Amino acid sequence: MDEFALIDIFFKALTHNRDDVLMGIGDDAACLRVPKGMDLVVSCDTLVSSVHFLPTWDAYDIARKAVLVNVSDMAAMGATPAWLTLALTLPESDNEWLTRFSNGLNNALQEFNLALVGGDTTRGPLSITLTIHGFVPHGKAIRRGGAKPNDIIFVSGELGAAAQAVALLTASDIPEDDRNALMHTLLNPTPRIDLTTVLQRYASSAIDISDGLSADLTHVCKASHVGACLMLNSIPVHKLVKKYQESNATYFAMSGGDDYELCFTVSPLEVDAFMADIKKANLMCYPIGVIEEECGLRIKDIQNEVSPLTVRGYKHF
Ligand code: ADP
Ligand code: MG
Repeated sequence: MDEFALIDIFFKALTHNRDDVLMGIGDDAACLRVPKGMDLVVSCDTLVSSVHFLPTWDAYDIARKAVLVNVSDMAAMGATPAWLTLALTLPESDNEWLTRFSNGLNNALQEFNLALVGGDTTRGPLSITLTIHGFVPHGKAIRRGGAKPNDIIFVSGELGAAAQAVALLTASDIPEDDRNALMHTLLNPTPRIDLTTVLQRYASSAIDISDGLSADLTHVCKASHVGACLMLNSIPVHKLVKKYQESNATYFAMSGGDDYELCFTVSPLEVDAFMADIKKANLMCYPIGVIEEECGLRIKDIQNEVSPLTVRGYKHF
């Protein structure tokens, strides 16, 4: 199959029902219409074989995960995702793999009402680059740089399971149930677009946790020229991380990447209203600490003793 047949069968055929796509796949470029009153938010993420996923994984899961991590970046900006482009590099034209990949991609496109509007297909070591486009009302994008001293720091869910899955990938002696539950969190992170409306209203800053809480919160602190103090016993840790990491669980959860929960800050004046809205929407968020003027990350232990928090997280270089 040549490149053009491949594009037609596996990508052009993916349908959508978005009327803001004036021209999708098939021309030299896509032509798209940003709704009135909205800003365009754009982000790009690459998944490289053997770095972000194993070549043995089901191509359906790989495609879905590629979409999910991109949608998560939209959630972190308070944006609603709309369009995707896909730059796909393949070692060979493998019909079976492409069918699984295309089906997984289609599943995620439908789930988030996304249109695949273009891309590029090349031969080489397997890698997947998605560029996602979304909208926020004018001036309402949530930035990393908006945290202020005394803001309360929240995370949107339990941490550490994806890192625990990676840590146990090669272990043979764990119960099947645990392995499946952990792999599910690694393959199916939930991008928190369910929080978009409430975050647009209340969040002074936000980031999605891709590299680990301590690393990602450091990005927020640096961009906002502030520091943070976390409370050790407030960090929500996944129960299987507690099981396998025991006394080290919280530190493991704070340094583990790939969770794709959100970390965000809310002004202390608005925390009560925020919590009330979260409850009304049947959502859960966990207050884990406070923004401080002094730069750097600190952690308060159970005896209320404060010490510097060593930042560990995934770095490519
Ligand atoms: P050009 O040579 O003009 O760059 P291509 O031959 O690369 O065009 O692509 C033809 C059309 O197919 C374009 O509209 C492009 O956006 C789209 N396309 C190519 N590869 C992919 C892909 N993997 N997924 C989605 N669309 C793709
Ligand atoms: Mg091209």
